[in-house]
Amino acid sequence: MKITRIIERPVHLKSNISNALVNFSEHTVSLVAVVTDQIRNNKPVVGLSFNSIGRYAQSGIINRRMIPRVAQEPADALLDENGMICAEKVLACALRNEKPGGHGDRAAAASALELAIWDLNGKLQDCPVSQLIRQRYRLDHDGGRVFVYAAGGYYYEGEGSRKLKDELRSYQDSGFTMYKMKIGGASLQEDTRRIEAALTVAGAGKNLAVDANGRFDLAAARAYAQGIQPYQLRWFEEVGDPLDFELNATIASEYEGPIATGENLFSHQDVKNLALYGGMRRNHDVFQMDSGLAYGITEYARMLNEIERRGFSRKFCFPHGGQLMALQVVAGFGLGGSEVYPGIFQPMGGYGNTTQVVDGMVNVPDAPGFGFECKPELISLFANMIG
Ligand SMILES: [Mg+2]
Repeated sequence: MKITRIIERPVHLKSNISNALVNFSEHTVSLVAVVTDQIRNNKPVVGLSFNSIGRYAQSGIINRRMIPRVAQEPADALLDENGMICAEKVLACALRNEKPGGHGDRAAAASALELAIWDLNGKLQDCPVSQLIRQRYRLDHDGGRVFVYAAGGYYYEGEGSRKLKDELRSYQDSGFTMYKMKIGGASLQEDTRRIEAALTVAGAGKNLAVDANGRFDLAAARAYAQGIQPYQLRWFEEVGDPLDFELNATIASEYEGPIATGENLFSHQDVKNLALYGGMRRNHDVFQMDSGLAYGITEYARMLNEIERRGFSRKFCFPHGGQLMALQVVAGFGLGGSEVYPGIFQPMGGYGNTTQVVDGMVNVPDAPGFGFECKPELISLFANMIG
């Protein structure tokens, strides 16, 4: 078995929203297709993926550094003991001659490549990626159903809290029981009004999380922590800069409710530092690393190892991502639950029309690979690039 071609294409997200720091109207994502010499139904088997959502397309790194390294590698050197293409070996090959540390855009670039191999192997073995993960890491949980929550509650230019309530109500109508909204893009007073409006739909603080997207310095973080404490929210996300573990630890020692972070940590070394120095409380605070931004599933397994060996539970992992790849990772590793972006960040966000949310849970699709085929608009983008 061998890879015959790897293709990358940057595409724009359909989005006119913003959080506290980022306006998504300029956002792009790298689609990756790994074409093989294996034929099914008269067509080559192709592994598909993208580098999650939120860190831009990585065309330069993928095309100029990673694809040439993988293309030059002897085909046999990329196979595992069963003769399948090995995601771990492809990742190691893509990273050859890269210095350690500084895990930024390169981590997202490598993710797209690594995840495409999992999709490929799912298609070759006619099983979902969640099942491949359970086999590879010898996990015996069921994983057929996953808790999901609706992430949204963005700032819409010129719109007040009525639009926010309508948005959350639409998620409620489609079966969600927990919601997340952005904070930090307005004053504390205005955000407090928005939270109270959201709670009229969510019903209770435990059904609502807030996300500051790493915006706050210590003074602002403290002011918000005090301001939102009475609402007993599900969690307070990315309070300060994702790498400011001292700030995270300080807020964790002062704010009673759970805090959540990790979506902008891209290596197991960074996650180790969070576990050691970030003040995270066991069985209370939430880890949100995203395999689509951080070297893929191989690295995600290493991250889980870092937290579990320090007494944290994978049930407190709720990955960032909001797309099918993250859902399969949550089901495969038996994590706490998954974020989903219903209706936004299309065509990458969400799970497609065949997956229904009932009482905040979904049945994980059992289509081969990541199951992108249930998202026709996304599949047509892939089809265009493969030609
Ligand atoms: Mg977030």
